Amino acid sequence: MNREKAIDRIENTESWDFLVIGGGATGLGVAVDAAARGYSTLLVEQEDFAKGTSSRSTKLVHGGVRYLKQGNISLVLEALRERGLLCENAPHLVHHLSFIVPIYSWWEGPFYGIGMKIYDRLAGKLGMNPSKILSREETLRRIPTVEPRGLQRGVEYYDGQFDDSRLAVNLAQTIFDLGGTAVNYMPVAALIKDNGLIAGAVVRDLESGKERNVHAKVVVNATGVFTDSVRKMDEPGAKNIVTVSQGSHVVLPKAFLPGRSAIMVPHTPDGRVLFAVPWHDHVVVGTTDVAVDTIGREPRPMDEEIGFILTNAAKYLAKAPTRKDVLSVFAGLRPLVRMGDAKNTAALSRDHTILISNSRLLTITGGKWTTFRKMAEDAVNQAQTMANLDKRRCTTEALKIHGWTKQASDSPFLSVYGADAPAVQELATLEPALAEKIHPELPYIKAEVVWAACEEMARTVEDVLSRRTRGLLLGARASIEAAAVVADLLARELGRDEAWKNKAVSDYQTVARGYVLDD
Ligand SMILES: Cc1cc2nc3c(=O)[nH]c(=O)nc-3n(C[C@H](O)[C@H](O)[C@H](O)COP(=O)(O)OP(=O)(O)OC[C@H]3O[C@@H](n4cnc5c(N)ncnc54)[C@H](O)[C@@H]3O)c2cc1C
Repeated sequence: MNREKAIDRIENTESWDFLVIGGGATGLGVAVDAAARGYSTLLVEQEDFAKGTSSRSTKLVHGGVRYLKQGNISLVLEALRERGLLCENAPHLVHHLSFIVPIYSWWEGPFYGIGMKIYDRLAGKLGMNPSKILSREETLRRIPTVEPRGLQRGVEYYDGQFDDSRLAVNLAQTIFDLGGTAVNYMPVAALIKDNGLIAGAVVRDLESGKERNVHAKVVVNATGVFTDSVRKMDEPGAKNIVTVSQGSHVVLPKAFLPGRSAIMVPHTPDGRVLFAVPWHDHVVVGTTDVAVDTIGREPRPMDEEIGFILTNAAKYLAKAPTRKDVLSVFAGLRPLVRMGDAKNTAALSRDHTILISNSRLLTITGGKWTTFRKMAEDAVNQAQTMANLDKRRCTTEALKIHGWTKQASDSPFLSVYGADAPAVQELATLEPALAEKIHPELPYIKAEVVWAACEEMARTVEDVLSRRTRGLLLGARASIEAAAVVADLLARELGRDEAWKNKAVSDYQTVARGYVLDD
């Protein structure tokens, strides 16, 4: 996946079948689906792939136990099916994970036990290990750090877990594998209309500053929380349809949850579900649900959210985590489709919505990472009818995503590269200096930076430390210290000078400081 080649293709293609705006889960899914059906496809992303919400999730591929509680069976059924398909199609990134609900009062055992049995049944033949009731001793054995006072038992069930931005990068690579094109740092600045109908977009290459007109039969708006701003390029007076809710997480050292099971708290005081999940040898705890008015590119967790997460986590952990323990904090913005005047964002629908404007801009929004494939299938089906394209069947149910392999890598941290892991390892064998770590507290080696620049379209220090590797989330301070090493390697691979390096490091530090929690 090479940016220069992508730009070449854009310059030399007169018209595309599909132009997809937005390189998050939704847009990447649509572009993969369209390219897999043989349509000529271009995806443009204004920043980096998954820079928005899609790198800031709780990292779960799940049916959504919470939606079961809300009685939204069809959403749970669809998500459980997609969970099963994604485990098959990206086994290098999606894993089965045990979740345990610690039980502290007599009625919760049967209540959650029955709920989880229903969850098992809904998954049908794509199900994981069956749920079960654990004794107090077994619960303590599986989660040695769980609060023992008053603990009666546990209810265990299984769900999926993944690495969100790595999946996004692999989806972008899949677009190329299928003959399509995807490019980062290329915002859509305006839409092009022909006889009142959408016929393409004006895109701007942020690296060269050049603007180009891109023509396409179908233009898909998959811009998450920016959905309405693109809709307004089409219809300046369009009413907003997206409501935004912020969710934050804290990352703690593994010592807070040393086993292999996650903790699921089904009911926090604001009626949400709270997770503490082992992830890349650390623990991700979250999330929150707070309506916000401003849509920033770098949302910041609010102090109340951090307080809420730490206070609630402390109720279930024998040793309460403090601000000092936090290695990183991150926030994401949920694009929720507005229904009337709903104030409580936790109650808004997590289903996806497809809208086709009078001038034929196809907008797709809502949903969740887990269901991105089905969302894309629906969008491309609608687009075929809208643009009168020849009907081609969706093929993504069994499409192996780039990196697909069932063979685990020898190095656990290279396993996220799947089938590419040996090639990353080989870089380090050919040039032994690349086998060195980028920072003593981070698990990544220099070869991964070179790989990210050469094969994964990483252009900035942040692309490498936040989304190709997850250094920013695993240790924000350590990642700031690693920035200069990463900038050096990127400059070498991309042919950049000293001034570029200095700016790259300082740009990264500005962003990364927002992930550091002051004591
Ligand atoms: C806190 C939180 C936790 C979550 N946890 C989970 C979970 O565990 N499991 C799960 O399944 N789902 C989860 N979700 C939901 C999931 O993350 C989202 O549904 C999904 O990431 C949305 O993807 P998207 O592509 O629609 O939006 P985004 O990822 O935001 O992508 C939209 C992209 O469009 C780009 N863009 C905007 N305007 C333009 C333009 N003019 N030109 C070009 N590009 C543009 C943006 O830069 C952005 O990258 C969570 C969400 C949140 C907020």
